[in-house]
Amino acid sequence: MLKSLGLAALAAVILALGCLCVMPVPEGVPVLEYHMVNSGEVSGDDPNAVTYIVQPEDFRAQMDYLDKEGYTTITMLEFMKAKKGKLELPEKPIILTFDDGYKDNFTQALPILEEHGMKAVVYMVTNDIGLPGYLTWDDLRNMQNRGIEIGSHTANHIPLTTLPPEEREEEVKLSKLILEWNGIHTVFSLSYPNGAYDDSLPELLRRNEYLTAVTGDAGLNTFQTNPYLMQRVNIPHPRFGLLEFRYRLWKAEIFAKLHIFQHKEKTL
Ligand SMILES: [Zn+2]
Repeated sequence: MLKSLGLAALAAVILALGCLCVMPVPEGVPVLEYHMVNSGEVSGDDPNAVTYIVQPEDFRAQMDYLDKEGYTTITMLEFMKAKKGKLELPEKPIILTFDDGYKDNFTQALPILEEHGMKAVVYMVTNDIGLPGYLTWDDLRNMQNRGIEIGSHTANHIPLTTLPPEEREEEVKLSKLILEWNGIHTVFSLSYPNGAYDDSLPELLRRNEYLTAVTGDAGLNTFQTNPYLMQRVNIPHPRFGLLEFRYRLWKAEIFAKLHIFQHKEKTL
């Protein structure tokens, strides 16, 4: 009873915010953070558990919404080119990212992205390539040829902050090299495993010829944002449908406008 009252209250708050808000002018570029897109079960014993599966019908509704609202997807490379003045950004740019490199990014998400003429970035854990449930080399090259940018999510998905310096360097260096040796275009973007970073990682990435890295910190990005600490908008399974998606996007935009730094959300 209490649980359902709590859920109803949360739904009411989201509904109210969703209805009352007038979409503000974006103060930066949203980078959405996805994991899996499939029809798997999303129920669990813990009602508060965040699940990282977005069902295909929810994903399609989210892409329809972005389309309708006039967003244009860009890649990390395009963001960095624009930062250097070599490319003009569209009016409402947005970057879609997928962490971990699940097979369904190819089988489920890509067809929906292509229906909408959208681009995305997939951050692959290189030691998981070809394992059951994960993308293969052929998938990665195929996706790349269809407008998907491939980035590194390190070799073993160990939070870099827990590793000694030489092992950190191996994780970022080897994952980049292995991808490039196997036909992936220059890899210059990384996603920190579990979103974990510290003060020394930006310099480590710069030294290893990365240009950008994404965290699990919530927020938007401008050309003044540290390119090695780019913020994201987490998109887990939307328990309240499209309204929750709109709320997450709106919250990131309004917090950016108010210059409020949001704490890291749990990420994978
Ligand atoms: Zn991950």
